[in-house]
Amino acid sequence: MPKQREDCLFCQIAREGAYVHKAKGFVAINDINPQAPVHVLVIPEGHVDTFRAVGEFDAKESKRMLEFVAETAEKVGLTDYRVLVNVGPTAGQTVFHLHWHILGGGNDASEVPSAVATAEAER
Ligand code: AMP
Ligand code: ZN
Repeated sequence: MPKQREDCLFCQIAREGAYVHKAKGFVAINDINPQAPVHVLVIPEGHVDTFRAVGEFDAKESKRMLEFVAETAEKVGLTDYRVLVNVGPTAGQTVFHLHWHILGGGNDASEVPSAVATAEAER
């Protein structure tokens, strides 16, 4: 697992947060600014800046991370949902610690955006 960074918000949240799901190496939290009826973030405890560096996780950790995304969705009661990663600022990434958005909970797809743009990114 990549190392933590002292100055990173999501590293800190991975150490001490209000989790909707947690397992060894991974946590899931509610997004502070939800874009869908259910909007959860999956955060690995180890720090990599973006999805581009996903290769810094070993094969077992990467598999576990994907399983943890699926487990989290199930745990928060979703069977239908979107999984999304913003990679780089022009794609809407605002927090530079890899995280997976899980979006769902609406009655139809129109309530679940295909992209997540935060207020900061829209400005
Ligand atoms: P992204 O724009 O893909 O980098 O996603 C960052 C996400 O983190 C946004 O959806 C924010 O609303 C969310 N976020 C930022 N700070 C916090 C926080 N302290 N707790 C929970 N979610 C946060
Ligand atoms: Zn971090």
